[in-house]
Amino acid sequence: MLAEGGVSEADAWRARDLAVLWHPCTQMREHPDTLPLLPIASGQGPWLLGRDGHRYLDAISSWWTNLFGHAEPRIAAAIAAQAQTLEHVILAGCSHAPAVELAERLLALAPREPGRAPLAKVFYADNGSAGVEVALKMAFHWFRNRGELQRTKFVALDNGYHGETLGALAVGDIPLYRRVYAPLLAEALFAPSPDAYLCEPGESAEQRAQCAADGLRAVLERHAGEVCALILEPRVQCAGGMRMHDASYLRRARALCDEFGVFLIADEIAVGFGRTGTMFAFEQAGVAPDLMCLSKGLTGGALPLAAVLATQTIYDGFLDDSRERAFLHSHSYTGNPLACAAALATLGIFASDDAVARNRATAARMAQHAAPLAEHAHVADARQAGMIVAFELTQGGDKRTPFDPAARIGLRAYRAALQRGVLLRPLGDVLYWMPPYCIDDEALALLARTTREAIDHAVAEAGA
Ligand SMILES: *Cc1c(COP(=O)(O)O)cnc(C)c1O
Repeated sequence: MLAEGGVSEADAWRARDLAVLWHPCTQMREHPDTLPLLPIASGQGPWLLGRDGHRYLDAISSWWTNLFGHAEPRIAAAIAAQAQTLEHVILAGCSHAPAVELAERLLALAPREPGRAPLAKVFYADNGSAGVEVALKMAFHWFRNRGELQRTKFVALDNGYHGETLGALAVGDIPLYRRVYAPLLAEALFAPSPDAYLCEPGESAEQRAQCAADGLRAVLERHAGEVCALILEPRVQCAGGMRMHDASYLRRARALCDEFGVFLIADEIAVGFGRTGTMFAFEQAGVAPDLMCLSKGLTGGALPLAAVLATQTIYDGFLDDSRERAFLHSHSYTGNPLACAAALATLGIFASDDAVARNRATAARMAQHAAPLAEHAHVADARQAGMIVAFELTQGGDKRTPFDPAARIGLRAYRAALQRGVLLRPLGDVLYWMPPYCIDDEALALLARTTREAIDHAVAEAGA
C-alpha cells in the first residue's frame, strides 16, 4: 500500500509515531533501525491486523492481558452498554452495580483452603503495579494498627517481578528493571527461587522446591518479628523468564507464613484467570493466600483494572474510630464501572464457554506442537504450565552455556518471527507462547513452525 512519494502507509505511520511517542520498555534509540515498529489497525481473535496489510498472530496475548481474543464482541458490548449508563463515579461514599457484582463473583471464585477463613473483601486499583502497592501497604498498615511497629519488611523471591512503581520494584528482582532505581527502593529481603530450571542434575522439581522453602525458613527465622508479608508469583515467575516451580513450594510457603505470623500475598496478576490450567494458580497447591492481587486478564485484556482480595481478619484490622487507622489509599478511577463491566463480561465467558476445561484441551495441543521443538539443538529446556509454553535457548542446548547477551538471539528471533507473521516477544533468550485462549490448531501449527524458523534464523544470523 503506497502513499504519496512512494512511502508505504505503514512507514508514514511509523514516522508519525516516532515523532511524538515514547514507547514503554523500549530503548528508543533502537527504533527504527534495530527494532521494527509494528503499526496495528485492528484486532480479531488471536490476530492483529497491521497497517501494512499483513496479519500477525498475537502469541503473547498483548503483554499477557488478552484471554478470549481481540475486540471480543461480548466484552465490547458490555463496555458500550455501561458507557451509556454510568461511565464513572467516585467510589468513596458511592456504590454502583458493576463494582459490587464483580466483587461478589471474584470472592466466590477465589482459592479456598479447608479450615482457613476465605478471602472476604475486594479493594480495586487500576493496574497491576498499583494493586501490588495496595497489598504491600495493607499488610504493613495492619501490623501498625496492632502496634507491631517493628514489622516493616517484605520477603520476596529471587527472580520475581511485581511491577514498575517504586514499592513494587522494591520487591522485584529483575536487574534490568531494578538496578538503576536501587537507591530509591525500600530494602526487601530475598529468599531463593524454587525455579525448577535451577535443579542440579538428578534433582527433582519437588526437591528444588523443598530446598528453596528451607531457604525461606532461614530468612524468616533471621528476621522473625520484622516481616509483615511474603509476596510471590505462584507457579510461574513470568517476567523472570517463564520459570516454573512445583506447587509443593506454595504449601511450604503457606505453612511458614503461618508459623512466623506473616501474611502471604499471591501475585496472580499474570497467572490468574485460567492461564496455568486452573482459574487461579494457587488452587494447584490446595492452600489459600491472605491477599491476592489480580489484573491483566481480569478484563479479558480490554481495560486496565486491578483487584486486591483480602481476608476478613485484614479488613477488620482497619476498623476504628480513628481515620488514621483506615486504609486511605485511593485512585481517582477506583472501581471504574467500564472496567468492572468488562471484567463481568469476561467472567461470563469463563462460565458460558467452560473456558478452564477448554484450555485443558488447548494446552494438550500446545504440548504436542511444542514436543518436536524441545528436541531442537539450541533448546536447553522446554516447559509448560497450562497455557504457557517456554523454550530456553542456549548454545548447543546446554544449560551451562547460555548465549552471549551481545549476540541478541532473542531480539533476532523476534524480528524473524515478525517477518513470518507472528508476534513473539522473547524475554532475553527465552521464547514463549502465551496466546489468547481462542487460538486454534492451525494458528498453533503456524506458531510452532515460526518458532523453529525464528530460532534457526537467529542463531545463523548471529553466527552463534
Ligand atoms: C505485569 C505484572 C505486574 C504489574 O502489572 P502492570 O499492570 O503492568 O503494572 C505485577 N506482577 C506480575 C506478576 C506481573 O506479571
